[in-house]
Amino acid sequence: MNLTTSLERIKGVGPRTAEQFAKAGLFTVGDLLTFFPRGYEDFSHVTKITDLKPGKVTLQARCEKVEMRSVRRGMRVVTATLADDSGKVQAVWFNQPYRVTQLKEGGEFLFSGEFEFRYNRYQITNPSAEKVSDIDASEGHDAIMPIYRAIAGLKTSLVRKVLQELQPLITMLPETLPQKVLEKEKLVSYSEAVQNIHFPATVDAMEQAKARLSFEELFQLLLASQLNKQEHGKLSGIAMPFAQEIIKSFVENLPFGLTGAQRRAVWDIFQDFESATPMNRLLQGDVGAGKTVVAGMAARQAAHAGYQTAFMAPTEILARQHAQTLDALLSPFGLKVGLLTGGVKGAARKALYAAIAEGEVDVVVGTHALIQSKVVFHTLGFVVIDEQHRFGVAQRQALLDKSPVMPHLLSMTATPIPRSLALTVYGELDISILDEKPANRLPIITKIGSPNSRSEVYKKIDEEIEKGRQAYVICNLIDNNPDNDLASVEVEYKRLRNSVFKHRTIGLLHGRLSNTEKDEVMEKFAKGELDILVSTTVVEVGVDVPNATIMLIEDGDRFGLAQLHQLRGRVGRSAHQSYCFIIPSGSQKPSQRLREIEKSNDGFYLAEVDLELRGPGEIYGRSQHGALNLQIASLADAKMITRAQKAAKAFVASGENLLHYKQLAKQVEAYQRLTTLN
Ligand code: ADP
Ligand code: MG
Repeated sequence: MNLTTSLERIKGVGPRTAEQFAKAGLFTVGDLLTFFPRGYEDFSHVTKITDLKPGKVTLQARCEKVEMRSVRRGMRVVTATLADDSGKVQAVWFNQPYRVTQLKEGGEFLFSGEFEFRYNRYQITNPSAEKVSDIDASEGHDAIMPIYRAIAGLKTSLVRKVLQELQPLITMLPETLPQKVLEKEKLVSYSEAVQNIHFPATVDAMEQAKARLSFEELFQLLLASQLNKQEHGKLSGIAMPFAQEIIKSFVENLPFGLTGAQRRAVWDIFQDFESATPMNRLLQGDVGAGKTVVAGMAARQAAHAGYQTAFMAPTEILARQHAQTLDALLSPFGLKVGLLTGGVKGAARKALYAAIAEGEVDVVVGTHALIQSKVVFHTLGFVVIDEQHRFGVAQRQALLDKSPVMPHLLSMTATPIPRSLALTVYGELDISILDEKPANRLPIITKIGSPNSRSEVYKKIDEEIEKGRQAYVICNLIDNNPDNDLASVEVEYKRLRNSVFKHRTIGLLHGRLSNTEKDEVMEKFAKGELDILVSTTVVEVGVDVPNATIMLIEDGDRFGLAQLHQLRGRVGRSAHQSYCFIIPSGSQKPSQRLREIEKSNDGFYLAEVDLELRGPGEIYGRSQHGALNLQIASLADAKMITRAQKAAKAFVASGENLLHYKQLAKQVEAYQRLTTLN
């Protein structure tokens, strides 16, 4: 028996069981050994119901009465009476309707949750519930019981039984980390960790096992990005000498002075340009920090060196806006800026293709239309990707491939992420951060309103318009869906136009408009021809209309924290005081999310809070890095990430050959393929 032995050959695993394992992606002994528990139940502290005290409690009980009811706005509440031989207690679950099915099956459960005084009585709120017969192996249970992710038809008890068969193998598992790393980090051996993750004798043993396995996973991931970075460094690129006069005249022509952070970022970029190693840099800047002008300055430099710039943005609205901004920045120096989107058709498109191929256009701004095979550059030397997380690795790569030599790459993002997380998600990139807003900016005043305060907000909007400013009203949905009462953008638009804001000009923007229609509305708003823009979240990223100073977000509780921050970033882009009013859909108390956004304008702070509130899986799980699929490590564990990063750096610096560690090398290579840009 070894790690590649198929599970079917293990005692107690018949063909049907093997099939169920296979459905969960578990085929071999090795797969099962790394099928780590999703949590643990601590049987060592089971309390009798009569002895319950407020705080976290674990109890073993039967369910007597299970009921579900709907309370306000679709929220579903499940209640159950739990009983053991000492007494009864009420348990309540919010928005976990599946509990009804689970609990109605009957039997003994192990509950673990918060025992508290709420709604005038003692109850257990949102406890976990594990069926005792599912987890309890026949010989009785250990004090600390691992709970495995449910596999259809397979119970934790069976998983444990099969793992028990593997115990002899577990004790013989070879070490997978370099011995030096193990000693330096004072970690338990691989064999011990696998043993204690599945069969912990104490909480301490379980925690040590978890730490060792988490460290290992992060170490592999961070080693992969270190190696990717090293490999990128070996590529040959285009050296573009710094032209001081050119940059000086560019800066003198700006209507504003650069912030210190902008100057530092540009400096980083010019240093990268000068080297023959292609740049691979991420420009992270909170909304409104002024990323576009940084990219524009770099494009100016690239053009002077004789190279074209490709500037890719995720939406047509943004591409058009960037083209205008860059044209204003660059045409005074005789540079030509072209715009390529799906909306450019026929002869105009052909002419643009030709101009790009001839090198007549210096900067080509566009959507993903830029990566089509018909687009051939004359001499592409610099690639900018705005809101880079909106593009997949393949799309970014396709644009880089438009040059025979690896061009310099500047990725930009307005989604600030905590530094420790940046190490794992952007480990192979160099990072410049715009952590300073232009000096003339006042912090946006944010207020959470109630539905009753709407008329006051309208009054405030009207006052701003009277002063010459403009406003956004953000709604959630396009159709007036009778199933919910979210403000629908079309209905809201008509309502505002025919009542409160009869005397103002109002525009409507949403994703179902054609591109031309969208452009027209945006153009009008940018030119100040519209006082109010009623919009869905299509304005979420990047839109820059500095004269807009007030925003009302309807149904604010339906948006995520990061999204609210991005939306709010559409105002506060000039020297005028800006305001953001958020009205939740219900009359319930504002959520913590809303209270945080009311309190802070700092994207980095809010990102930390978001990470804490939702966890990294929710935030980054669906993004390009979802594929990382970490088994045990948490991307929220800043300490462990920093520790693993240090160790990975030291390993690379030591010059040791990774191939001496077969298992490690295999994992690292897999991560390298997942994360690399090259
Ligand atoms: P973001 O970082 O969100 O992409 P933009 O590049 O759209 O920000 O810039 C936001 C606004 O700030 C634009 O109107 C831009 O002209 C302006 N801006 C950029 N840099 C400065 C500066 N140093 N001083 C004043 N305004 C600036
Ligand atoms: Mg931007």
